[in-house]
This record gives sequence, structure tokens and C-alpha cells, in this order.
Amino acid sequence: MTKTVDVSQETAAILDKLGVARSAWTGGDMASFSPVSGEEIARLKTVSAAETATAIEAAHAAFKEWRLVPAPKRGELIRLLGEELRAAKEDLGRLVSIEAGKITSEGLGEVQEMIDICDFAVGLSRQLYGLTIATERPGHRMMETWHPLGVVGIISAFNFPVAVWSWNAALAIVCGNPVVWKPSEKTPLTALASQAIFERALARFGAAPKNLSQVLIGDRTIGEALVDHPKVALVSATGSTRMGKEVGPRLAKRFARSILELGGNNAGIVCPSADLDMALRAIAFGAMGTAGQRCTTLRRLFVHESVYDELVPRLKKAYASVSVGNPLETSALVGPLVDKLAFDGMQKALAAAKAEGGNVSGGERVAEAGKETAYYVKPAIVEMPKQAGPVLEETFAPILYVMKYSDFDAVLEDHNAVGAGLSSSIFTLNMQESERFLAADGSDCGIANVNIGTSGAEIGGAFGGEKETGGGRESGSDAWRAYMRRATNTVNYSKALPLAQGVTFDIE
Ligand code: NAD
Repeated sequence: MTKTVDVSQETAAILDKLGVARSAWTGGDMASFSPVSGEEIARLKTVSAAETATAIEAAHAAFKEWRLVPAPKRGELIRLLGEELRAAKEDLGRLVSIEAGKITSEGLGEVQEMIDICDFAVGLSRQLYGLTIATERPGHRMMETWHPLGVVGIISAFNFPVAVWSWNAALAIVCGNPVVWKPSEKTPLTALASQAIFERALARFGAAPKNLSQVLIGDRTIGEALVDHPKVALVSATGSTRMGKEVGPRLAKRFARSILELGGNNAGIVCPSADLDMALRAIAFGAMGTAGQRCTTLRRLFVHESVYDELVPRLKKAYASVSVGNPLETSALVGPLVDKLAFDGMQKALAAAKAEGGNVSGGERVAEAGKETAYYVKPAIVEMPKQAGPVLEETFAPILYVMKYSDFDAVLEDHNAVGAGLSSSIFTLNMQESERFLAADGSDCGIANVNIGTSGAEIGGAFGGEKETGGGRESGSDAWRAYMRRATNTVNYSKALPLAQGVTFDIE
């Protein structure tokens, strides 16, 4: 028999162990709930608009100092953060499971992602390269220099409560910028814990300016204050497309930079030659993993008519048998939805799918004894006659819409015929199909995979998507450039002043 976990008690023990002051999460005005049990686990103090402005000013003061610290030295702080995260992995991973409802391996995996991005950023701290460019003028040199940008605001979503912060913070700090973080109001405790871990790294580092990293607890109005403040140079905002539609224009209005990481409506295509065993596993993890609450969750599946009757029954069997349950007490593969709102959204989408002729299996609530306010569901698989209605939108829940296709060109059209453009995959052993999927007239997403699922990206690549996903990129590759300002420098070491393009301007 498994031991029953007291979620509140365990939360308190983890926060104490990680050094988060009790005053920060008891007796406050904002309640925080665990989706695992549905119970209230903390009452946090929120910040006011005035306190937000003060925090941003303090971050700006930190910027003035930190930008002058050599980048490899800045990398040393992130190296220490990586060490502290390694030491805290079990506790922080468990807290992610408690607060976001992720199964244990995914909670730990999220912290591993934080560690990985720290390692990446440490290496990056010695590689913030600019180009040297051939100049058309004799005795001149032209080059690019990359400078720190300024205060970076981070707005994050509930479903990756700590990894998204680290993707941004590790890069921003190595690039010479302080960060001010507004976490999701659904997952504030993991933010406080991450900040406490950061402060341990800071204490070991020594000479860093105060307020290099701050957390602001509050609702979206705090996010809005970050967006509107003239001393926030870049806002990296992760969340729904609805949020991005509000944040994007406000940032553009004051010409601030943005990294928008918004909703996805990710699709997979299963071709006639696909390895169906491999496809089945990738689809199952992509669509049901994290209870369908990843931005990269597989939501639409196009299956070629020649393999449809073989794959889809196997998929339905996998759906019917997947274990749903408390991620803290069982080895279930699917944990809870974040809250009632998510459950209601899922039921609404399923009803709409039925109205469009969809054939729904699963989707019903799974009762967890004594947990009336927790929302566990059977993942749903919906066979659709065509791509219509709710299939065109992201519903942040485990619903997989399955559609039959016969023509490759037509399925590519359907694949791209939605607002979002985050992640995509094709399952095929046919080189022409896979190359076409990756070509200019193939998938229009920021992530396009062959023979792996849509979710579970590595940190080494730039992460993000096109269209209504917002166009931002963060994490690996050259995503660091968004956190720096580029200066083009031309140096004249000759004794003449030739003008570019052969222009003459001779004064007496
Ligand atoms: P959400 O949009 O409800 O909230 C995200 C964050 O934005 C929260 O911190 C919230 O307080 C803040 N916010 C909301 N409105 C705001 C406004 N007008 N101004 C400033 N801040 C505002 O999203 P959620 O429910 O927490 O997360 C789920 C969504 O996030 C899904 O759509 C998912 O696809 C998306 N997501 C995208 C990525 C990605 O990298 N593309 C990653 C994770 C989640």
C-alpha cells in the first residue's frame, strides 16, 4: 500500500529546506493550490504596483554594475547556480510536481533542464562573439560588438514553472542583464524556491550587485507593470496567445524588445512507411504526457489511410490503459489538470468536437478519493471527419484529434492551416516525405521533427514558434542575441577620411 502524502506538510518541509522564509508564503493575500489534491497550500504576499516599480529601478541599478563584469566571470555565477540546482534537484522537482501536478520524472526532468541551460550558458559566457566584417574603405576596420541590453522581465506560465525562468535568466545574466520575474499566479512557490536557490549561488559568488534576480508575486497586473515600465528593455513572456496579443502591442508601443513564447496547436503526420511502434510511443508521450499541458503537446494527428486501421485501434488501446493518478503517490503516467477551469475547457472542446461529427473516446473525470477539488481526467482521443471547430484552437488539456489523409500535399496544407506554429513532426522512412516536411514549403513551425514527437525539446536548440506562437526564440543556439544589443563599430586607422559609397563632401 502506498503512503498517503500530506501535500501541505510536504510543501512546507521543502520550502523550509530550500530556505524560503515562511513570511513569504504564509498569511498573505494570494492563495496557492496544489492540483494534486486541490487543496490550498500557501498564502503568499503579493507586491503592489509601487513595489514593482521600485524593484525595476533596483534592477536597473544592478544593470549598471553587472554590465561591466566580464562575461566569463558572469558565467561563474551561473556555474554555481547549476551546482546549487544539482544539489536541490530532488526537492525542487518534487515541488514542481506538487505545484504543477507533473509526474515525478517530469518534475525532476524540468529541474534537469534548468541544470542543462546553466551548463550551456557557462560555455556561452566565453562565446558572445561578434563578427569582423570586410570594409570597403582602406585603413578601416568594421566589427560587431555585443553589449548587455538592460533589465529583462520574465513572465512565465504555470506549466513550466521553473524551466522557463532558467532558460531566460541563465542567458540574460551571462549576457550582463538583471532579471525581474513574474511567475504564474498558479505556481508561485516554485518561483520562490528557485530564487532561494539562486541566492545560495550568489552568496558563494560574492561580489555581485544586489537585485540581480528578483521575483514579483502577483497577478497579471504585475506582468502589465513590467511590460509598461520604460526601464525594462526586454520582456520574455510565456503563456497563452491571448496574453501575447495583449503584451506584444504594448511592448511595441514603447519599442521595447519582446520574446513571445505563446500557445501551440502541434501536429504529427504518420505516413505509409512509418515505423508504427515508434510512432505509437512518440504519439502517446506527446499527446498524453504532462496531461496534455505542454505548449508542445501533440494535439492533431494526421494518419495515412493505408495505416489508419492499424495504428488508431492500437492508439485507442494505449489511451484506454494509460494510468491516471496522483503523481506523488503512484507511478501514474498522467497527473491532474491544473484546475477546474482547465477541466471545463476540456469538456467544452469535447462537446464542440462531437458537434462537428467527432467520435470521442475518454475525456471523463477520474475520481481521486478525498480530492473533490482536484481534476484528474482520462486523456481523450477524438476521431474527426475533418479539421474543423475546436481542432483549429489550442485547448490546454489531453485531447488528441485524429484525422485520416490520403494526399501528401493536401495534408501539408492542413498541417499548416491553424493559427499557431510551434512544434510539428512527421513519421516516415521515406526520404522525400521527410525532406519535404523540413523544406520551405513543408511545416511552417519553429520546431519540425522527423521520427520523434512534438514535445520534449533539448535546450541546445533555439526554442519557439511562428505565427500566433509569437515568433520568439529562447534557450540554445544563438537565442542569446535577443538579450544583447549589437553595435556596429567602424574604426578608421588611416590618415584620410574616405566616405562610404564613394560620396564626396569636401569642405574648405
Ligand atoms: P496565461 O496566458 O494564462 O498566463 C501566463 C502568464 O502571463 C501568467 O504569469 C499571467 O499572470 C501573465 N499574464 C496574463 N495576462 C497578462 C497580461 N495582459 N499582461 C501581462 N501578463 C499577463 O497562460 P497559462 O495558462 O499560465 O499557460 C498556458 C499557456 O502557455 C498555453 O497556451 C501554452 O501553450 C503556453 N505556453 C507556451 C510556451 C512556449 O514556449 N511557447 C511554454 C509554456 C506554455
